[in-house]
Amino acid sequence: MRPDRPAADPACRLPVESSTDFLARVGPDVRFTYVSAGCERLTGWAAEELVGRDMHELAHPDDLADAHAAHAAALCATGPSTAVLRMRCKDGGFVWLESIAHSLRDEHEAISEFQVVFRDASARVRAEQQLAQHARQHGAVARLGQVALREQDLSTLVEEVVATVASTLAVQLCGVLRLREDDDLLDILAHAGDWAGETIGLPAGTGTQAGYALATGEPVIAEDLRSERRFDASNLLSEGMLSGMDVIIARHERPFGVLSAHATQPRRFNVDDVNFLVAVANLLSAAVEHHRKEELTRHASLHDPLTGLPNRTLALDRLDRALARRRREGIDVAMLLLDLDRFKLINESLGHATGDELLVVLASRLADAVRSSDTIARLGGDEFVVVCERAGGVREVVALAERIAGVVSRPYVLDGDEHVLTASVGIAVADGSEDTAASLLRDADAAMYRAKHRGPGRFELFDPAVRSQVLARLRTETELRYAIDHAQLLVHYQPILDVASGRPVATEALVRWQHPHHGLIPPLEFISIAEETGLILELGRYVLEQACEQCAAWQRRFGVPLQMFVNVSGCQIANPRFAVEVAELARRSGLLPGTLAIEVTESVLIDERGSMTVLETLHTHGLRLLLDDFGTGYSSLSYLRRFPLDGVKVDRSFIDGLDGSPKDVAIMKAIVEMCRVLGLAVVAEGVESETQLEQLGQLGCENVQGYLMCRPMLGAVVSEFLEQRLAEGPAPPARTRSSAAAPGRPALRADARLRASRDASRT
Ligand code: C2E
Ligand code: MG
Ligand code: MG
Repeated sequence: MRPDRPAADPACRLPVESSTDFLARVGPDVRFTYVSAGCERLTGWAAEELVGRDMHELAHPDDLADAHAAHAAALCATGPSTAVLRMRCKDGGFVWLESIAHSLRDEHEAISEFQVVFRDASARVRAEQQLAQHARQHGAVARLGQVALREQDLSTLVEEVVATVASTLAVQLCGVLRLREDDDLLDILAHAGDWAGETIGLPAGTGTQAGYALATGEPVIAEDLRSERRFDASNLLSEGMLSGMDVIIARHERPFGVLSAHATQPRRFNVDDVNFLVAVANLLSAAVEHHRKEELTRHASLHDPLTGLPNRTLALDRLDRALARRRREGIDVAMLLLDLDRFKLINESLGHATGDELLVVLASRLADAVRSSDTIARLGGDEFVVVCERAGGVREVVALAERIAGVVSRPYVLDGDEHVLTASVGIAVADGSEDTAASLLRDADAAMYRAKHRGPGRFELFDPAVRSQVLARLRTETELRYAIDHAQLLVHYQPILDVASGRPVATEALVRWQHPHHGLIPPLEFISIAEETGLILELGRYVLEQACEQCAAWQRRFGVPLQMFVNVSGCQIANPRFAVEVAELARRSGLLPGTLAIEVTESVLIDERGSMTVLETLHTHGLRLLLDDFGTGYSSLSYLRRFPLDGVKVDRSFIDGLDGSPKDVAIMKAIVEMCRVLGLAVVAEGVESETQLEQLGQLGCENVQGYLMCRPMLGAVVSEFLEQRLAEGPAPPARTRSSAAAPGRPALRADARLRASRDASRT
């Protein structure tokens, strides 16, 4: 008896003949000795055809072992024994029969014969088989669901699906076909079983069973492909397939593809088979959708939303991999960092939307300019990098930089107007084994920075000697940050005197850094770093606060409207609230109105176009404006006309020449005269000798500043100087804001009495 078959209850089996039962007697040698008439109804065999035959001869070959086992069990059994086996019918087919055998014994208790009731068990076995198939299919779907949850990789899941469907449905071929995004062709993603034909570019529509399933959107079942009329089954037939099912793997807008199962025999697929395949296809749909969403999230986290290019993270990741490969295989790796020149100007003048449009155009031009092995990425703003994973030497990288410069400088048509741009490019080629993505980016950045300083549209190769400079700059930046927070900055003051009277009319605040190890550091060594890092905002505010407080204290102590000049950088002026904030600071510190002046250099006027309004509001808030280092740079005279200046400070380089150069004397004379006409005050910077001072007096320059009179010093030291000088003569007349701004009147006026003595010295 087969252990997996339910035992029949022998008590219910009566040896009576019904339409589905028959009775037989079998000898101990398993040969029929008697067969009742009912047998013929069930198996086609007449009784006389079976009597004398070995019962096992008629067993289904697959059940033969079970038949022997059942016989062995019956020989030992004390009661009835049962079995469910297939018996061959006369027509060659098989019928499931349940047998209940009772042994009959002779006077020696030996088995003389078996009395067996046979009953048709086809329906029961079929139901049992169906249940088992159901359970198998459910189990398979559940298992695949677990794989889908666990597996990040879609292709692993697809492989698992085809293997599981093939074994669960007992088909010889199972495949997942994917519909292409851009046309109606299908590609076989994975298959279980042999497939010798084409795996890509299979036709959709009625060209294949899969295509037909896509066209109808319904499961397509073919019991015999040889008589198929709905679609062309030739490719399946040529693979030896005779039947099969195809179901669609759905997705929101467009199906993902088709799941197909095919058998080498004609086959009737039942509802359970179809439902099973549909369930697996649905599971695959959900996994595909989930995977697509994850892919989108991943893509978004690694790409720039504006241009669609890889972002910094992805670029650095690719660079790291390329560097690892370089260590293994020795392939050259390089990085180019490009930064557009004056992009800020475009953004501010044409608006951010136009700026964005330009970046998108540029991104696609760059993508066309690089090779397929290069990665072009946007780091943010107007900064792009090219990672050359196979650089092929410095010469090739330079050629690439030139190509890039070429595409950047092609004109851009924005809002109907043509614009031309250039980019500064820094190139770093990996040369040591310790190179990392971060270090290469830093080197490229340093090279780009140098390129920018040399002028627009340049490129520079990173020079390792620069590396130490860069590191030093980084160190200074860190230390400066600390210095600002830990009161290491000092403000020194240098008096500005009226030439005629020799009396102080103002002081200039000049910052220094009292470094714990390097001593007193002059501003030229750290102001530019503070500007690049934005630390200048904090630093500048600190200097302004100190200067206002110091000046207010002097004004109170000496009872004179002494002025304070404070240097400010472009980034400070760029803040539209600058004027308001400084005016508020001056007011709070108790400064006399009109005694705070801001010194700016020409570069501030050139670079910060938006600063015009800020500069104008300085006046409305009672602040004054001086042009520092006049005579250096472009010295465009139009600035003197366009900007609301109160005075100029003539650069030391002109004062130097006053000792002997007639040209410098002529220039200084012209400046003084021009400023007089324009109503601008003139301060001569860097006066170091008596001759220079005398010369300036003769030229009519009213105010001087320089080591000759006083070096920049701490407030306490300058206090003494001021006290001494102010005691020497009458105080300069106090000016109100309105008089200071009045046209034709110098901002720093000399006292009339001293002017007379100056005039006398001319004769
Ligand atoms: P500046 O505003 O033109 O300042 C004048 C510079 O000339 C000062 O240098 C001063 O010490 C120096 N000087 C004055 N008289 C003489 C002289 O007779 N002979 C010579 N050889 N030099 C003289 P310092 O203090 O080193 O400042 C350099 C520059 O740093 C300043 O030039 C200014 O542009 C900038 N700076 C100083 N403090 C600040 C600040 O608080 N903020 C900003 N943004 N810049 C500052
Ligand atoms: Mg200055
Ligand atoms: Mg200066």
